[in-house]
Amino acid sequence: MTVDREPSGAADQGERNIFAELSRGDADRDFERYLIELQNCMRCGQCRTNCPVFKGFGAETDVARGKIALLAHALSPEVKADRDMYAWLTMCVNCGRCRLECPSGTDTGYALLEGRLRLLQKVGMPAVKALMVRGVFGNEGLLNAGATALGLVQPLLFRPSEADPRHVRSLWRLPMLGQRVLLPRMRGQVKPGVVDPPGEVKGTVVVYPGCLIDVGYPELLSALITVYQALGYRVVVPRGLVCCGAPAAYAGDVATARRLAVANIAAILPHLRGTEAKLAFLCPSCAVAFNHDYPEYLFGQMSGGAEALAASGFAAADLELIAAQTVDATALAWELGIGEHLAGDDGPSVTYHDPCHLRRLMNVIDEPRAILRHLSGDQFVEAANPDSCCGFGGTFALEHADASATMLERRSRELAATETEVVATACPGCMAWLANGLDRIGSRQRAVHLIELMAEAVAGV
Ligand code: SF4
Ligand code: SF4
Repeated sequence: MTVDREPSGAADQGERNIFAELSRGDADRDFERYLIELQNCMRCGQCRTNCPVFKGFGAETDVARGKIALLAHALSPEVKADRDMYAWLTMCVNCGRCRLECPSGTDTGYALLEGRLRLLQKVGMPAVKALMVRGVFGNEGLLNAGATALGLVQPLLFRPSEADPRHVRSLWRLPMLGQRVLLPRMRGQVKPGVVDPPGEVKGTVVVYPGCLIDVGYPELLSALITVYQALGYRVVVPRGLVCCGAPAAYAGDVATARRLAVANIAAILPHLRGTEAKLAFLCPSCAVAFNHDYPEYLFGQMSGGAEALAASGFAAADLELIAAQTVDATALAWELGIGEHLAGDDGPSVTYHDPCHLRRLMNVIDEPRAILRHLSGDQFVEAANPDSCCGFGGTFALEHADASATMLERRSRELAATETEVVATACPGCMAWLANGLDRIGSRQRAVHLIELMAEAVAGV
């Protein structure tokens, strides 16, 4: 094996020795790639500036630099990997900020995912997390059955939220979260199908709803259909969709993530091949899984990526097609001219929360604000620190409940300070989490998805 870069920057002597020792071994190409990425970090600390977790808590293990140092340290045969290391690595909302801002070009996203994968192979996943990642998100049948069962018991264990009827409030503090929470009222699953607009069909959007919309917020898909009908677009929800695999991939369970990705690619490709259809998302975390994590990580750099792609039966060009057609549904609607169909500037007073993956990794920043200015004119109020994270981060909210709650409270107070009626966002996860945060601080603001405001305006509600 050859390692062509010298350990750089502030890597300490111990780490240099580890790298030197490993570079004399017979490691495979996957390991070599991983080693190079760990070495590439020059320990400058630039990633401390904007990491939402580090900004909140300030521990070196919160930030990419500390995590990479930890992973380099864990390579040593004298170091015994343990669950604490795995927990430190998962203290991350996977926002991608460190990757975008790293001056040495270290792909921190890859390094941290590969590190979790390798650590997981040594220490195993904690049982509760495994149940969530593999048993719930990793198994569509169980996810749907669980959602149906939860829908049946919700009237016994929860009571309707006074502020927002689509949510229910738990009667007791939930064990993992240590809080009473607002959850979406479970109302069954989204059905696959095709909805044509009245009149001429100008184009097609293939929609990937994602788990949260599927089981908890189906009205967001209805809102999308209303908006795209106004634009003259056919909406297709393919049969056979499953979880995007992000919870499994971010946990380091790459086998589960790949299995889910293959099912999704098989379901979606026939609708995109040979067409100009776009693949539209209402959840930017799912979108980033499809347009970045599948081609770059799961079937790319990560251990076994090339073999997994070959075994899937798909070509790299198939993944590229999916990535190229992936769009945020609200931004696409704006590009297609939905502004002409919106009612005017008499919408509610509203502020906006940027989902991390949408702002940072999909660069959708201006379109939601343009839509809100169009809907509400001067009643759109920008909140302080538009770059703040709500602390959701998928399983992060459950695994690091205290940290997540602290981040959520901070962001909720920033949004509440605008004193608007509504907090709009463009991610069902952020929306659900902000509904909780606003409720906990006693704010009467309603958290909604931007597509709902667009649909209400189009329908003249
Ligand atoms: S910014 Fe990049 S090079 Fe600097 S410490 Fe962070 S990961 Fe390493
Ligand atoms: S991905 Fe985001 S939360 Fe995770 S270490 Fe990087 S900046 Fe911090």
